[in-house]
Amino acid sequence: MTDATPDLAQIAERLAAVTKARASAPRIKEGVLTLVLDVGGLSEDQRAVMEAAVRAEMRDVPAITQVRVAMTAEKKTLQIIAVGSGKGGVGKSTLSANLAIALHRLGHRVGLVDADIYGPSQPRLMGSEGEKPTAEGKQMIPIVSPSGVPMLSMGHLVDPGQAIAWRGPMAGNALGQLLDARWVDVDTLIVDLPPGTGDVQLSMMSKHKPAGAIIISTPQDLALMDATRAVSLFEQVDVPLIGLVENMAGYVCPHCGEVSDPFGQGGAEAAAAHMGMPFLGRIPLAIGIRTASDAGLPPAGGGASEAAPFLAIAGKLLEWLDARK
Ligand code: ADP
Repeated sequence: MTDATPDLAQIAERLAAVTKARASAPRIKEGVLTLVLDVGGLSEDQRAVMEAAVRAEMRDVPAITQVRVAMTAEKKTLQIIAVGSGKGGVGKSTLSANLAIALHRLGHRVGLVDADIYGPSQPRLMGSEGEKPTAEGKQMIPIVSPSGVPMLSMGHLVDPGQAIAWRGPMAGNALGQLLDARWVDVDTLIVDLPPGTGDVQLSMMSKHKPAGAIIISTPQDLALMDATRAVSLFEQVDVPLIGLVENMAGYVCPHCGEVSDPFGQGGAEAAAAHMGMPFLGRIPLAIGIRTASDAGLPPAGGGASEAAPFLAIAGKLLEWLDARK
């Protein structure tokens, strides 16, 4: 026994900082600190550096006379959250980008994959246009967007328009490479699916099974039930539906801020109930959302009122993930 009482919470906090949250809860018994480091995805050198950092950090703690570090390289499976829609132009990419940023802002280890290989828009939305990912062996290294979210998009690899000509298998391989990249320090991957419900989506989801899917729709499409096609796509591959997001819901007047509802209100909740899934929230039709997106500054990273709808949807997703545990 040692005299000094170690402050475990403070020690855990210091360890989390030097290990980027890869350390298990520390245990101290008779002066011996025991700890498990999750080193999955790290090179030998990176592991050694991290272990040395742990030892250095604990050197001045009087209650600790010895540090025992165990390493596990258990390949943690990434949980994929797919964002899909019945058709293009409904705001699927806008939601994916802002959801990733909102989760990052809430302290989660999140990455973003733009699987919309025929019309990749994430580099522009996330302000990372023109960047090129590097590779280590056959594995791609994600780039980090200005908001701090690691991401990969076909738009980072080919010139705009080039992927359009790709056929099924080639598109599938390209997608697989994005998903199998070196996602270090990422637990949750938001995947912006290609619009619609074709073979590319089906084969991707059979191979890299998402933990759940979010469907986004506009009020008009809900009326037309376009979104039901997306629902049946996920059902075919047994991917649980997390819920429905309504985009371009009420119109926010850029002059006075008043919200009007050209398509009526409440239809989305009713449609979600009809399709047997929760309603996750609505995003208003606001010019600011489009201009911020075009400028590569997603509103979820901005001020409270712009970020609010996205933070609320991120909160619902986190509730779903917690309930699933
Ligand atoms: P999708 O990925 O479904 O094709 P996008 O996310 O690219 O759709 O959105 C299509 C267009 O609509 C983009 O110009 C985007 O900035 C704009 N947009 C999306 N959601 C909103 C919104 N809530 N308010 C205003 N413009 C929006």
